[in-house]
Amino acid sequence: MLLRMSSLFLRTLREDPADAEVPSHRLLVRAGYVRRIAPGVFSWLPLGYMVYRNVERIVRAEMDAAGFQEVHFPALLPREPFEVTNRWTEYGDNLFRLQDRRKNDFLLGPTHEEMFTLMVKAEYSSYKDLPVSLYQIQTKYRDEARPRAGILRGREFVMKDSYSFDIDDAGLQVSYDKHRDSYISLFGRLGLDFVIVSAQSGAMGGSASEEFLAPCDSGEDTYVRCSTCDYAANVEAIITPVPAAIPFDGAPAAHVEETPNTPTIESLVAHSNEYQPRGDRPWAAADTLKNVVLTVTLPDGSTYPLVVGVPGDREVDMKRLEAVLHPGVPVPMEEAEFVKHPALVKGYIGPEVLGEESASGIRFVVDPRIVDGTRWITGANLPGRHVFELVMGRDFTADGTIEAAEVKPGDLCPACGSALAMARGIEIGHIFQLGRKYAEALDLKVLDENGKQVTVTMGSYGVGVSRAVAAIAEQTFDELGLVWPREVAPADVHLVATGKDDAVYAHAENLASELVAAGLRVILDDRRQASPGVKFKDSELIGVPTIVVVGKGLVDGVLEIKDRATGERIEVAVGEALDRIVSVCRA
Ligand code: ATP
Ligand code: MG
Repeated sequence: MLLRMSSLFLRTLREDPADAEVPSHRLLVRAGYVRRIAPGVFSWLPLGYMVYRNVERIVRAEMDAAGFQEVHFPALLPREPFEVTNRWTEYGDNLFRLQDRRKNDFLLGPTHEEMFTLMVKAEYSSYKDLPVSLYQIQTKYRDEARPRAGILRGREFVMKDSYSFDIDDAGLQVSYDKHRDSYISLFGRLGLDFVIVSAQSGAMGGSASEEFLAPCDSGEDTYVRCSTCDYAANVEAIITPVPAAIPFDGAPAAHVEETPNTPTIESLVAHSNEYQPRGDRPWAAADTLKNVVLTVTLPDGSTYPLVVGVPGDREVDMKRLEAVLHPGVPVPMEEAEFVKHPALVKGYIGPEVLGEESASGIRFVVDPRIVDGTRWITGANLPGRHVFELVMGRDFTADGTIEAAEVKPGDLCPACGSALAMARGIEIGHIFQLGRKYAEALDLKVLDENGKQVTVTMGSYGVGVSRAVAAIAEQTFDELGLVWPREVAPADVHLVATGKDDAVYAHAENLASELVAAGLRVILDDRRQASPGVKFKDSELIGVPTIVVVGKGLVDGVLEIKDRATGERIEVAVGEALDRIVSVCRA
């Protein structure tokens, strides 16, 4: 492969695009890899598409090597199967729905569990046919609420999705482990640094599930890692260790007090320590019970009010809350809605007016740390007043607990009790033991050894193929531009010819042909008008791993070979250049 910059369909940009929030987006646009068509919808230009195809090739090779078989579905799908599993409704606003000219409903597939289940059902009928794992590399459509960060979160994107079909749980575990192993190998080949974390089952419904996250500051997922044991989890999946209940026999009685000028937790704590000291120790933010009022919208459009009680030193983490309530969508309750619930005194909401059994009927759920015997300062349901020493289990109860409080570094590991560290990552893959949910809904059964019909058990496994391009860019870029790992790079060598001397260009052409003949992929900067400075900048921005400069040194019989990642330069004699470059690229 030889690409000449003089004719390559490419315009690099000196300025960052105004809408780019993260480095990969900024650089992929500036280096002429992608262009935005609409929010969350992008096209690939030649260099970008080469990287994309390299990623796709590696993903496909790893799937094939694991013995999974490739099929291909349409993106345009009929409504019926999604109606059967209820996802036509449950997917909510994220689903792109459309109608044909006969007014039949269709959708653009956000994921393909239903279709794969039906495909296997149509072809297979016996346990002897199983196990089988099928995959596709397919364009998916999700009308994401927050398309952002370029191709990291698109509304149209490419996913590799696989599905395993087994006769029993033991078989599913084997299929799951095979996918896990193949993901470890494929993300390694893509040059991605990654961690495997346990994940919330989310929209799919099912049991064991893990995510592959690429650690990176611009990642949208937050995960924890234990400082001692091997526990690692998406914050959405953390189960808070529940403290032991505290005896409250001798606890002081609850009392309502005026608390003027205490609009914040901080001011409330300061006021409390001054006028209502606790005796054994000062009151802290964690002693206040903050009741956060939300409106939850269900897929059918109906809504209900929900109050979430958390210790005042933590916020409600909306992503964790969304994960728990899915397919319900929570938002902070709006003013107009508040008025409809006279029991709620804004700023002074307390548990006594909450709960499904209470007069208000408003569902009230609390953080798992709020166990029996804990003593709280919270709203007294009267303007300007708080109640002190309100004891859980004595003075109030909740309708249940909820995993929605913000997770903090130093929180305790649910597995071993050590401190947790936190970091951000990009979800690049997700493996999931679905179990029988889809097989049951769509009636995928086979005959077992005894001639009995049994429901098949399934796994589903996704890789963000287009997202991986951006994830790799995020993990490798530097202040000069993109820095591709060789296997995914658009070329092996970026050969820059500089100056006005015809001999330089003739030499560069010649070397380029020799490199191509040696099996390397080459970009040749043969532009006569561009200055050396522009050419060097472009080569750095584009990010091919090996940059070779044929220029002034030629008269002295030397070329320069530069490593894009380390910046290291070596001068080599013209006669040795070919061998040296080939060996650098094969190393
Ligand atoms: P996220 O939590 O990032 O929204 P998800 O959990 O909805 O992702 P899955 O349904 O598990 O995603 O999809 C499998 C893989 O597809 C993800 O691990 C991710 O790499 C990729 N993916 C999902 N949504 C997008 C998107 N909007 N744009 C690009 N890639 C995506
Ligand atoms: Mg996921």
